[in-house]
Amino acid sequence: MSRTLFTSRFGGDLKVAENRERLRRTLSLDSLYFMRQTHSDRVLVADDIGEDFECDALISASKSVGIAALAADCMPITFSAATLIGVAHVGRVGLVKQIAPRLVTRMRELGAHEITAVIGPSICASCYEVSREMYEEVVSLIPATATSMDSHALNLQSGVAAQLQELGVSVRNTGICTRENPDFFSYRGGDLVERQAGLISL
Ligand SMILES: [Zn+2]
Repeated sequence: MSRTLFTSRFGGDLKVAENRERLRRTLSLDSLYFMRQTHSDRVLVADDIGEDFECDALISASKSVGIAALAADCMPITFSAATLIGVAHVGRVGLVKQIAPRLVTRMRELGAHEITAVIGPSICASCYEVSREMYEEVVSLIPATATSMDSHALNLQSGVAAQLQELGVSVRNTGICTRENPDFFSYRGGDLVERQAGLISL
């Protein structure tokens, strides 16, 4: 049985290494891996690779290992299957690059069947206005992100949910907007450095 957590409460300052170590100890995990996220389409398996986690989606099959995505408006998404877990960092760029479907495909190659995804706190459609040009471009690629031409705001949560449901993944959405909820960090809300973690462990 996997364990999922979305938290902004692992520090309150910017002592990054200390905060991560404290979180690992609090959760009684042997290891807790974070990704070096670059809005890429790169999926890695934590159990194969040691220290190089330059990727935006990570998979693990090890007990007592946690894997985490950091975000502040982008979506941290956790994935659980019987013997595998995954985590992804998905913003507008990652959505267009299909990082979440790529993660699911890799999990299936590794033997996952039933997969459940949880979309963590992230910016909601009402709060994510982009330029008209960008709106039209993203909606043409992923129609589920559409809201209205008047607001030209993108619904990233619906967009990724549609990508995942098409692959037969069960999707839950925490429904928490980071821009509107003061308990979570929001880049658009002025939190330029701080991030919350979405993490999962087996
Ligand atoms: Zn909102």
